[in-house]
Amino acid sequence: MNFAFDNSFHGMMEGFYAPAEAAQPSVPTLLTFNTALALQLGLTGDGTNDARLARIFSGDELAAGAEPLAFAYAGHQFGHFSSQLGDGRALLLGETLAPDGARFDIQLKGSGPTAFSRNGDGKAAIGPVLREYLVSEAMAAMGVPTTRSLAAVATGDRVQRERSHPGAVLTRVASSHIRVGTFQFFAAHFGADHVVQLSDYTINRHFPDLAEAANPHLALLDRVIGLQCELVARWMGVGFVHGVMNTDNVAISGETLDYGPCAFMDRFALNTVFSSIDANGRYAYGRQPQITHWNMARFAEAMLPAIHAVDPAGVDAAKALVDAIPERFRVIWFDRMRAKLGLGRADKADEQLIDALFGELEQHGVDFTSFFRALAQLLRGDGDMLQTLLPDAEAMAPWIADWWAQLEREAIAPLERADAMDAVNPLYIPRNHQVEAALVAAESGDMAPWTALLEVVQNPYVARAEWDAFAHPAPVDADTYRTFCGT
Ligand code: AMP
Ligand code: MG
Repeated sequence: MNFAFDNSFHGMMEGFYAPAEAAQPSVPTLLTFNTALALQLGLTGDGTNDARLARIFSGDELAAGAEPLAFAYAGHQFGHFSSQLGDGRALLLGETLAPDGARFDIQLKGSGPTAFSRNGDGKAAIGPVLREYLVSEAMAAMGVPTTRSLAAVATGDRVQRERSHPGAVLTRVASSHIRVGTFQFFAAHFGADHVVQLSDYTINRHFPDLAEAANPHLALLDRVIGLQCELVARWMGVGFVHGVMNTDNVAISGETLDYGPCAFMDRFALNTVFSSIDANGRYAYGRQPQITHWNMARFAEAMLPAIHAVDPAGVDAAKALVDAIPERFRVIWFDRMRAKLGLGRADKADEQLIDALFGELEQHGVDFTSFFRALAQLLRGDGDMLQTLLPDAEAMAPWIADWWAQLEREAIAPLERADAMDAVNPLYIPRNHQVEAALVAAESGDMAPWTALLEVVQNPYVARAEWDAFAHPAPVDADTYRTFCGT
């Protein structure tokens, strides 16, 4: 396996990272490898056997050109600031250049302790590793910006959590691991010069078009706010709850980062929380836009020294950008929802329709994912799917009539509209009960259910009769789903 490593972080200021070394796994065994992603990244090495892949992607064998390091960062965790966090259970192998020139971080997660592990063991259990792999690949298939998963390897070691689990290492691919917390780390420990340096690096790597702006750092703030609003609208459009939107888990690239206690909602409820550690619902489904506003205010604070260094008036402009986030999010959200509902042209009436929808879905306990597919079926003249989702024939009838009236403003053939809706509304998402069953089987050595589920969620839009079981939520009386952080 050959990487075109081109490591640009090295040589940036000291204290921003520490060299790292993977712990030796006792019996590295390949669980899964993402051949399609490897191809996209231009990783060569046809014929590299599974045993070799397992050694490379567990950190047992260092690929040529890798210069492993752990990043330092800071961050607000559940609202409380820590000035010294960092990769405590991950290391960057290096940066690789894809054939199209795009640069990616290749990171091992669960590869053992680093300088930033504090009291943690630096390890990961097989369940959370396979969960991140599955959910991130599902997100990619649904067009949600995300880090990707290249490999999962069992280490042959045990990892102690509430109980003992088999250990594993995930190989994560990100367009970079620069986070809001990275900027907070620079602002807390260094000063304006260093924030400028990080901002310049970020612009050069991710957003080269901003280099010519009058105040590039202000332009970066603006861009990152836009990407985060877009990202959260995408999450919410597929019923996704991230679960730990701490500022150290917010990637500047606008990719979803750190799949811990995340999950997808079945029956719609705004206050849905899956994470066992989010007792107050800080990161509930419906709070994700407000939290993004709060996180972007923290990002703006960290950027202020750089923004001010170019132009003191930039500080007021930054404040105005942050103040405008709720409105900016709503514009993006309405666009997303219009696409989901098959509405083309924007007007105020569809904003009311969209706002009203969520109360209706909540009141009737409707399965969020299925609902949008059922609307498309209705356009095809088939109301059965919708009827099975609703408690009685009259439920939501006035809303459906309003939606229909909105559609009729535009002369688009119903079948054409239904197809356009199905192309943006997934039928197959990682349903919690399916994910759980797949992870339980994998933990006991049977990868078949996980592999089958991965194939389904990688093809989210086109219905297949043999996948019918994957399109439904767990029975109503199923236990409340809880997720845990300890990757
Ligand atoms: P997260 O909530 O997953 O973003 O993790 C928050 C912080 O805790 C990060 O800095 C992680 O590197 C660190 N951390 C989490 N689990 C471990 C572990 N098992 N060993 C060491 N550090 C960890
Ligand atoms: Mg994290």
